[in-house]
Amino acid sequence: MVTQAEIARKIRVFMITRGHPYPGQRYRHGWIPVGPVSLAEAKTTAEVAAAATAEAKRLTGRDIPFEFHDDVEPQLAREYSEGVLQGLDRFPDAPLGAVRTADFGAERRDDEFTWAHAVGPGDGRTASGKYEIEFNRKGEASERANEILHMKQARGAYAYGDVKGLALHEFGHVMHEGYGTAGEASDTAWKWAEAKTLAAHPPAPTPPRRPWWRLGRAGTPEASTGPSHDDVRITLMRELSFYAVTNRHELAAEAFADVMVNGDQASDISRQIMGQLEARVRR
Ligand SMILES: [Zn+2]
Repeated sequence: MVTQAEIARKIRVFMITRGHPYPGQRYRHGWIPVGPVSLAEAKTTAEVAAAATAEAKRLTGRDIPFEFHDDVEPQLAREYSEGVLQGLDRFPDAPLGAVRTADFGAERRDDEFTWAHAVGPGDGRTASGKYEIEFNRKGEASERANEILHMKQARGAYAYGDVKGLALHEFGHVMHEGYGTAGEASDTAWKWAEAKTLAAHPPAPTPPRRPWWRLGRAGTPEASTGPSHDDVRITLMRELSFYAVTNRHELAAEAFADVMVNGDQASDISRQIMGQLEARVRR
């Protein structure tokens, strides 16, 4: 049985996806036409794309087309979209121009195919003149993809464990590349991890000076001035993710996804980096 509340909800969802203000004034012709469905209700991949595009327009006032190949599973397309829309909800001015699935050809990362990437205007490859997020057309279906990502999170590889998190990682690239904050994020993370490593393992006291005839070729052992590069990397791997230490771009994107997915449970360093990004966006 369909309740009044359910009908009202569907009408509201419809009004919102069409960009109508709500509470819904009476529709101009006194009639709610059959039209695009909400992201949650979309059944086909094309419907998902249309609903996501409408929702992005509502959030940002801009046209950010979502385009997915028909052979991409609707549920997978929905989860990609949900992640990106969550990003747009928090950062409506994100320099994002389009979202799509694409054939990645031979591009590989580690032992597996590349899941997704963000293409920048500097690469000369984006029609929108902004950043564009592309998901590999060859992606696993949603259930399997979430399983794999969950396992990767459990092993510490990524800061998130689902498809939505993957989309938010890419959104993190769009933000940090767009605002030029990846370097700052990396510096902050490195200093933070150094201090944390040092607190956990204070340096051994300086060894007594040895007479010169006992010295090896290396000379007097240096007094330890700080934690080793490897120890700092390990701290960052443990506190954020293995993938975060790949380079400053991945570090920034991982920190972004960490906060968006894990909220209050995110690492301290991820929240600091998000704070820096937000300060930059507000400027
Ligand atoms: Zn990345």
